[in-house]
Order: sequence, then structure tokens, then C-alpha cells
Amino acid sequence: MDKKLVKVLDTTLRDGSQTASISFTLNDKIRIALYLDKIGIDFIEGGWPSSNPKDYEFFRKIKEYSLRSKVAAFGSTRRKDTKAEKDPTLNSILESDVDTAVIFGKSWILHVTDVLRVSKEDNLNLITESIEYLKQHGLYVIFDAEHFYQGFLDSADYAMQVIKAAEEAKADVIALADTNGGTTPDKIYDITSYVVKQTNVEIGLHMHNDIGCGVANTLMGVLAGARHVQGTINGIGERTGNADLIQIIPTLVLKFGFKVLKDINSLKELKPLSRLVYELSGVSPNPFQPYVGDNAFAHKAGVHADAVIKNHRAYEHVDPESVGNSRKILISEVAGSANLVNYLERLGINIDKKDPRLKSILQKIKDLENHGYSFDIAPASAALIALKDLGLYEKVFDVEYWKVINENGLALALVKVNSYLEASEGVGPVNAIDLAIRKALQNIFPDISKIKLIDYRVVLPGEIKNTESVVRVTIEFTDGEKQWKTIGVSRSVIEASIEALVSGFDYYIQISKKLKPLVV
Ligand SMILES: [Zn+2]
Repeated sequence: MDKKLVKVLDTTLRDGSQTASISFTLNDKIRIALYLDKIGIDFIEGGWPSSNPKDYEFFRKIKEYSLRSKVAAFGSTRRKDTKAEKDPTLNSILESDVDTAVIFGKSWILHVTDVLRVSKEDNLNLITESIEYLKQHGLYVIFDAEHFYQGFLDSADYAMQVIKAAEEAKADVIALADTNGGTTPDKIYDITSYVVKQTNVEIGLHMHNDIGCGVANTLMGVLAGARHVQGTINGIGERTGNADLIQIIPTLVLKFGFKVLKDINSLKELKPLSRLVYELSGVSPNPFQPYVGDNAFAHKAGVHADAVIKNHRAYEHVDPESVGNSRKILISEVAGSANLVNYLERLGINIDKKDPRLKSILQKIKDLENHGYSFDIAPASAALIALKDLGLYEKVFDVEYWKVINENGLALALVKVNSYLEASEGVGPVNAIDLAIRKALQNIFPDISKIKLIDYRVVLPGEIKNTESVVRVTIEFTDGEKQWKTIGVSRSVIEASIEALVSGFDYYIQISKKLKPLVV
């Protein structure tokens, strides 16, 4: 066996769907499974058929696709008073018609005597009989030893008897679970090493994140000799979640040189996979998530940006593209001129870093940020400031007048752009004004119809939030090819929205009309 090969079991659809507030539809589960298969995850734990009828449907439906991944059904060892062949949970796994079963059993005496309420001997029997029954039906059996590490610390002797029973019953993998997620990485390493030495079966890991060590514990377990890891995408799961595969997989490959997934190019799919799971779970993406978060390769401080532009390795531990992410150089009040030069370069404007005009542009950005703007999140607005100061801006339109009527469920906007007076009805005042401005701009710049809003957000910046606070509106636009984001700040939501809207249209007009390519 290849000692560098680590197999991955994804339990997003089972343990992950036990997260508070997350409920995947059948269709969501299929979409996630197909993506997991695409990147070459070895096992997809699809659900717990005896506890949930939706999971039954999943196993039936997933058969319509020919997957490379093995699909696994989850359940417990047989009930204490039932024979294995009569046990509804074990039979529900067989009825799922999968090739892999994951069953969990007790390995901590406290759970055996106080929760399950059977003798220690009976617990061993029900583990043996359950595994043997599934093996007789030709299944690949993964045995999850629940609360193994706590059980081992309580009674190493009994915990090892459980492992031995599973090994003798011919389980294919024995996964050691830190079910409460409270064991520290040093103990994980020591105990896993011991188990690996005492057994001749593949050892796996199932870690939870209750002390923030789910990923670290999984890595320590692999270094101790385990070669099967379980986790979820984005670390979703009960309480503080499961170990995050999005962090485990690239670390095993890029830092330790293990072979995981089908090939190294699959790592590039980690960010889109992470995004898909966020989208379907209704959870906003964590910008700080290692490897795939929006901030993971974002450089804000001027010295960092300057260094990263010279040599990416200066502040990046891996190449962002290797995991499907990208580098971001942020423009902001703390940024030096390198960030701005880099951004303008991407627009086709080459300007010397020592150009004195850069200083005055950065000063303007700084002043505005003191008044509630944030150009990190709205670089297109910063670009407009720069274009004006560099003499590259040509005023194409002017919103001379606007009025919004918003009452009795009716939102009506009237605008005058250049000499064009237009009115529009909308779903709410901001939508009405958006439509009216577009109508007017249509006369000047017909391509305006290509622009779509993909995100609109209102926040109250600053620490003190009351009715006197300024409001920050950010809008993200697309023309189907590129995306850009602008900002507006005002005491009025409508005014802030108009500023962000107008800047977004203006930016697009300036970029499309003038900047190909310009050297200043
Ligand atoms: Zn779990």
C-alpha cells in the first residue's frame, strides 16, 4: 500500500446536515455529491437512511449517476435487544443499496454503561455482529469508534478491546472519533500512534472542532499514521462543526506531500466547492477561511502589497490559484501607492509609482475613508477618483435632478439626466430610481442595458449606530464579463444608493469608452 495515500470521506451531507439552521433539499444534496465526485473525494457519506426518509430518496436518486466516488450510508450498530439480521438500522443501510457502510459504536465505558446501558461484553458483541452482518452482504465497512479518545483516556484497555473487536470482525477502516471535539492535538498524536502500532487495519479520523482544533487534530492523526480522514466542506456540523476538509486537503497535499483526491489539479476546485456549499446551506462565506476565504490572499497594508507584487511568496504561503482563489491588492487609506498602481495597471493605465499625483489621489481616498467610505470593498469608486486626478476622466452625464415618491406601496422616481427627463415605477424607491436613471442614460449610452446589479448592500459603518449615523451602500455590477463594485455614503439611504449607482454606470462608461490602452 502507498504510504503517502490518504483517503477522504466527506460527511457534509450527513454530519454537516446536522448543523443548526442548515437543511439541504434532495436537489442540493445531489449537486453537492456530484461536485465531491468531480474533485475525486473517495467516499461520500450521503445520509442516515433509518433516521430520514429524504436520505433514502438520495440513495435512490444518486444511482442515476455513475460516480467515481463510493457512496456510503450511515447508521449505528444493532440495537441491544435485536438480532443483526432483524435490526432496522442495519437493514436500512442494506436497502440503500450502497457499497459502503459507516456504522458507529461505543468505545467509552461511560457511554456503554450509562447511555446505552449494556454490559461491556454485550457492547463488544453488538459491534462484532453488526460489522459481520454488513460484511456478509458484501459491503465495505467503516467502523466509527465514537468518543474514542475520551474513552481511551478513561480506560485504554476497554477502548482497545473495542478496536480489536472491530478489527477481528473485519471492518475495512476503523475511524477514531473525537466526538466531543475537546481533545488536544498532542493527545491525538500519542493515542493515534499507539492504535496504529497495535492494529493491522486502516485507521481513520473523525474530528470535531469544539476547541478550534478539528483541522489540527486531523493533521496530527495523519502524521501519527492514520490514512483515512473524515470531515465536511467548510467545517459545517453540529455545535462548532466538523474538521474542515477545505483546510485539511490542501494542507495534506501542499505542506506534507500526501496524495489526496485524484490529482493535484482538483485542489483548484476547492474554492468553487466551498462556495457551492455556502450557497446551498444559506450561510455567508467566511472571509477569513484559510485557503478559500476572500481575505485569504488579500493584501491591504502598503508594504505588504509592495512586497507581494515584487515576489508573491513574500506574504503568501501558497499560490492562491493552486486552491482556486485569487490575489487581491486592496486600495485603502493604509495602502501605499503600490496597490493603486497595481489596480490602475489592470485597467491598462501605466503610471510611475513615484508620480506625485498618486500622493494626492491617496490623500483624497484617506479623507473620504474618514467620512465612512471604504475603498477596499469598492475599488471602482477609487478608480474614478484616480481617473479624474490623472486627467483621464471625461464627464459624460450629470444627474441634474431627482425626486422619489414612496407611499401607499407605490415607488415612483423622476430624474433629469443631461436634458433627458424620465420617470419610472419600481419595487421600492432605489429600484425606481435605478430604472429611471437607466432610461435616461439609454439616450446617451445604449450599452447601459448590458449592466446588471448582482449585489446591493446597506450597512452602518462605525461603532456608534443610531439614527444619525451615515449609511454606506455598496453595489456590485456586471456586464456579463467583468464585475465591479462601487460605494456611496450619506445620511440618506436613497442618496447613498444614487451615488453608488451613478458611480457604477459612470465607471463602466469611462472604462468602455476610453481606456484601451493608455499610458500616462
Ligand atoms: Zn461527527
